[in-house]
Amino acid sequence: MARQPFIAGNWKMHKTVAEAEAFVQGLLPRIYDADHCDVALCTPFTALQAVVDSTRGSRIEVYAQNMHHEAQGAFTGEVSAPMLTELDVHGVVLGHSERRQLFGETDKALQLKVPAALDAGLQVILCVGETEEEREAGDTERRLRHQVDEGLEKVPTERLGDVVIAYEPIWAIGTGQVATPEQAQEACAFVRALVGQRSKEEADRGRVLYGGSVKPDNAAELLGLPDVDGALVGGASLDVEQFEALVNAAKG
Ligand code: PEP
Repeated sequence: MARQPFIAGNWKMHKTVAEAEAFVQGLLPRIYDADHCDVALCTPFTALQAVVDSTRGSRIEVYAQNMHHEAQGAFTGEVSAPMLTELDVHGVVLGHSERRQLFGETDKALQLKVPAALDAGLQVILCVGETEEEREAGDTERRLRHQVDEGLEKVPTERLGDVVIAYEPIWAIGTGQVATPEQAQEACAFVRALVGQRSKEEADRGRVLYGGSVKPDNAAELLGLPDVDGALVGGASLDVEQFEALVNAAKG
């Protein structure tokens, strides 16, 4: 099955509203005809409204970087799916390793967040990935199996293909130490096979991204791998020229 490539920029805690708007104004004319791939900007909460407004009618989709599973309640500091959809936000990144490692995000919480986001009409990018120690100990597949199985457990089978899964080895995030094409292909194929244990059709339909130190000079090789349908990009998504180069690299 032909899957549309997907390049998603994860800005993390970068860019004020003014900086976000300047980025969008710089990017829009550069990618207006890039219909070979889907493009998303995952912005801080504070910039969501501005980026939704300034990208309206364009091919850029806007994603949040986290979400609570409840629609409302006594959860200080949290943001819910209806709050995001009200802004016309397209989707949400869930389970990023920085949220798991620094803010205590658990697979159990993700089990609730993923279906809650889908039910609200949000697209989901679910992040999974092993630490360096887990890879060295030969534990990569066990770790990925646990994260994928738990994160998708409450997702109805016919919606599995709607969840974009980003394989992001933690040792490659923000380190400049990109996975080899062999490592990326093997892990992304394994993630797809895990989904395939519930539905082969949904596994063929769903997109698997690679993330971890993707840059313009290594993107084409990674994006050309059979089970890599795109990239979740941190550092290189903060710069208009680099991000444009990544979108172009998805042309194949
Ligand atoms: C990320 O934040 O998801 C990421 C992959 O970051 P970087 O591209 O900077 O490694």
